[in-house]
Amino acid sequence: MSRRGLVMVVCAPSGAGKSTLIHRLMAEYPDLGFSVSCTTRPPRPGEVDGVDYRFLDREAFESMREAGEFAEWAEVHGNFYATPKGPVENLLARGRDLVFDVDVQGARRLKSSFPDGLFVFIMPPSRGELARRLGSRGLDSAEAVQRRLANARGEIEAAGEFDYWVFNDDLERAYQVLRAVYLAGLARSAGQADRLKAVLGSWDRSG
Ligand code: ADP
Ligand code: 5GP
Repeated sequence: MSRRGLVMVVCAPSGAGKSTLIHRLMAEYPDLGFSVSCTTRPPRPGEVDGVDYRFLDREAFESMREAGEFAEWAEVHGNFYATPKGPVENLLARGRDLVFDVDVQGARRLKSSFPDGLFVFIMPPSRGELARRLGSRGLDSAEAVQRRLANARGEIEAAGEFDYWVFNDDLERAYQVLRAVYLAGLARSAGQADRLKAVLGSWDRSG
């Protein structure tokens, strides 16, 4: 049987630098796919439907939820988000490694579906720096920034549930740590039975 894809769940308070770090990892490793979530949040400038999110209205979201099409769903900062089950299962079964960008509630649910996943928490250096990054990103209203900052503390308090912490003070350093986690995941013996077989096969062929 061919290798099943690796699950990498990345969680962080909004503004900590998660998208920046994930985009860089996916640019360096094109074999790494992205689990495209469904959301009722309106698209931000530059976001593409079907690439960043599948943007749905409330009604469409609820009908998918009722049909059991989500692996998990949560309400975050006043909007609904969900991981669709079918596409994720298909990609993993075909051996595609996937990054999941979800909130703490989503990570908990995914932990029960994918206990062997890599669970990573991106940590902002401080409240002040998180506020500065949310402001400088310029994508959220002042009210939304305040809501995200208030929620951040509870999210950071859940960091103990994650296997890896990536402190995002210096972006380059944080990226190297995230990359190391991914590469260590790829190096797990459990995902490499095919390669072991190929190495042993080279002995068999020479005998
Ligand atoms: P998230 O996806 O976690 O909400 P983003 O990746 O959008 O966060 O980052 C929020 C803002 O902070 C962006 O403007 C980004 O360029 C900036 N940023 C990310 N990491 C750092 C860092 N280490 N130092 C300074 N600014 C950063
Ligand atoms: P944003 O609106 O900034 O894109 O995302 C807000 C929060 O929702 C982030 O913490 C992000 O990780 C989370 N999120 C995005 N997609 C999902 C999902 O499918 N499920 C859950 N539970 N959270 C998600």
